[in-house]
Amino acid sequence: MRIEDKLFLNRYRTDEENPHLKIINMEICKKCKNRPCINCCPAGVYEWDGESMEVKFEGCLECGTCRIVCPYQNIEWKYPKGNYGILYKFG
Ligand code: SF4
Ligand code: SF4
Repeated sequence: MRIEDKLFLNRYRTDEENPHLKIINMEICKKCKNRPCINCCPAGVYEWDGESMEVKFEGCLECGTCRIVCPYQNIEWKYPKGNYGILYKFG
């Protein structure tokens, strides 16, 4: 089974009012060389639109990679509150 198919089997419960990922300072992202968060995220959560970083936190796999690769510690990262986030039961 392809990894994309496996990811499709995961289930999410999104806490729309409390994103568990946030960019701390968008000005830093504008100057960030290569923006490694985009290429390192296995779920494609980060998307640069030319002006700002869109963070589609709903699809986050909670792997923590973006927090490690960001050279400026510019991502506020926490686990979703209880009962929210990814459910790996099917993946
Ligand atoms: S790696 Fe960090 S500073 Fe660079 S674009 Fe991503 S969030 Fe912004
Ligand atoms: S924790 Fe992992 S899946 Fe979630 S946004 Fe960061 S790199 Fe992507």
